[in-house]
Amino acid sequence: MEVAGIAAEVVARVEREATDLLTQLIRLDTSNPPGNETIVAEALDTWFRQHGLEGEIVGEPAERRSFVLRLTGSRPGPRLALMAHEDVVPAEAQNWTEPPFDGLVKDGYVWGRGAIDVKNLLAAFAVAVARLADDGRDFAGEVLFVAEADEEDGAIGGARWLCANRPDLVSCDYLLNEGGGEFLTLDGGQRLYELHVGEKGTAQFRVVVHGEAGHASVPLAHGNAVVGAADVIRALHDYEPEISLDAVPREYVRLLVDDAGLRARLLDATAARDGLAELGERDRLAAELLAPLYGLTFSPTIVHSSGEAVNVYPQQAVVTVDCRMPVGWTEDRVRDEIERALASVDARWELEFVGTVEGNASPVDTPYLAAISGVMQRLVPGASVVPVHSVGFTDSNWFRAAFPGVVAYNFAPFVVDDSAAVAGLFHNVDERIAVADLTFQSLFAYELVRELLA
Ligand SMILES: [Zn+2]
Repeated sequence: MEVAGIAAEVVARVEREATDLLTQLIRLDTSNPPGNETIVAEALDTWFRQHGLEGEIVGEPAERRSFVLRLTGSRPGPRLALMAHEDVVPAEAQNWTEPPFDGLVKDGYVWGRGAIDVKNLLAAFAVAVARLADDGRDFAGEVLFVAEADEEDGAIGGARWLCANRPDLVSCDYLLNEGGGEFLTLDGGQRLYELHVGEKGTAQFRVVVHGEAGHASVPLAHGNAVVGAADVIRALHDYEPEISLDAVPREYVRLLVDDAGLRARLLDATAARDGLAELGERDRLAAELLAPLYGLTFSPTIVHSSGEAVNVYPQQAVVTVDCRMPVGWTEDRVRDEIERALASVDARWELEFVGTVEGNASPVDTPYLAAISGVMQRLVPGASVVPVHSVGFTDSNWFRAAFPGVVAYNFAPFVVDDSAAVAGLFHNVDERIAVADLTFQSLFAYELVRELLA
């Protein structure tokens, strides 16, 4: 692998060290639940001690601890945290081509659960931090290495715990976390990298539809809870929530859509809905990237009836809905939208929210964004970095909520595999990462520290 402006022997050494550490970490099974992340915290502690650095294993319960290490630069300055979670989602070994917890390196890839989500970043950041120490800590301020427990399930919430209980240890000015960094190659050869600067909120809910119990041999004109549930699902699916352009970056639309007329429609709130449908016909990938940025989404995912017997009308049917709300929205505002969506539903229903976390975002006009763009343009000629909100939740949310001054971005850049190649690997069988991408993520983190904390 060659990287513009970085000596070949540095690239080779980073590749060797990051690959070696990642394979070790994959072999430590931290499937969540139950997590057992302390085995990874201890392995990182040992690894850093071998490099002459000392961190702290923190958190509770004892088997679910996080690891935090602080590296102070040679002069004062701001604090940048490099964060990645220790846990992984479970894997069913029988469906994999290679065993998920062997940490195998094959054909230029590291295989296994956590290879891309996100033990790759633990390894990449650890190697970058050790290099910074070896190179005389030639930076201003402090670099934090944060390996947090329980991101995937959130039962104990390692990041939430750290923010609440150890702000002395983890509060920071800048946070670099998982997500973002995938790229698309445009027709002209330009590479478009997504930088996630904010995250939509989640407001998952259930609609409980009440019906009239009775013998199903007599058809009901009204009062069949199952039919009511069908009406609810259809109404939510067809509902057109208010279009908002607040989180739609013009630059992103400009780069993704080359037709000027369509571009104009996509940036006009009154025409955007039709514009998105038109884009979907022409370029499904671009439409899938843009559509969630326009506002609230309802996705019904689970349907249950209280019925046990085929010949009895059930008392209730329950529709569970995944709902993502724009930054700045609250549960109350979502409730209003649901009531509007279901206004025409004949059945009697009740609403229960089952998990709400408000979204949040960091500003984009910052030296941090400039540093990320600068490093990417230097290392990957033709790269442009576009700030967008992500639809998924990450632990950056807790940091923004706990430390209002922090600028938290999610960016783990790839150079070999593009977004189409990596999209299917998260939480899936045969999770793996190109050794070149792992190496690049470590080189990028090191260069970012040197650029931002100059
Ligand atoms: Zn993750």
